Amino acid sequence: MEFVFATGNQHKVDEVQAMLPQSIKIISLKDLGFDGELPETQPTIEGNAKQKAEYLFHQGEEFVFAEDTGLEIEALNGEPGVKSARYAGEAKKSEDNMQLVLANLKEITNRKARFKTVIALFYKSKLHCFEGILNGTIIDEPSGTSGFGYDPIFVPEGSDKTLAEISKEEKGAISHRGKAVEKLVAFLKEQQP
Ligand code: IMP
Repeated sequence: MEFVFATGNQHKVDEVQAMLPQSIKIISLKDLGFDGELPETQPTIEGNAKQKAEYLFHQGEEFVFAEDTGLEIEALNGEPGVKSARYAGEAKKSEDNMQLVLANLKEITNRKARFKTVIALFYKSKLHCFEGILNGTIIDEPSGTSGFGYDPIFVPEGSDKTLAEISKEEKGAISHRGKAVEKLVAFLKEQQP
C-alpha cells in the first residue's frame, strides 16, 4: 500500500519509513512536488494532525496520513505543547526553541516532560487517530547530534542518554512517534481481508 505522509519534515519521513513494514510505502510531499506550508492552526496536537490530513484529502489524496507532535513540560503547564514548532518565534528554529525551554526551566527542579504524537489517517474516506507518548526529563544543556528538534535536551524515562545520543532505530523502538506508528500498522493489518 502507498500512503501520502503529509509533512514537510524529512526527519519525520525517514523515521516513519524506517518503522513501517516493507509492504507500506510512503510518498512524501516532496515526491508530490508540494512545497507549500500545511495549515496547522488548531488549538490541540490532535486537531493539527487532523487538519493536515484533511487538507491533503480534500486536494484529492485518498490514502493520506499526517502527524503532529508536541513537547509537554509539566513545570511549564504543558508548554510548549501545540506551540512546540514556533515556541521561540516564526522562524521555527530548533536551537532557539531549546534555549527558550532551558531558560524557562532555569532553577526549576521539576524537569518532567513528555512527547506526544498524534497520527491522523484517512482510510476509505474515514479519519482515524493514533496516539503515542514518551515520558522523560529535560536536561540542563543539549547533548548529542542525531535526531532533530528537542531531541538533544530530552532523556527518556529509564535511559541515561538523550534522544540525540541514540540511533534512529533505537529512538523508533521507544519513541512517541514509534508508538503511534505501531498502532497505525496494527490498524492497517486488521483491515486486510
Ligand atoms: P511538528 O509536529 O512538526 O509541528 O513539530 C513540533 C515541534 O516539535 C518542532 O519544533 C519539531 O522539531 C519538534 N519535534 C517533533 N517531533 C520531535 C521529535 O521526535 N523529537 C524532538 N523534537 C520533535
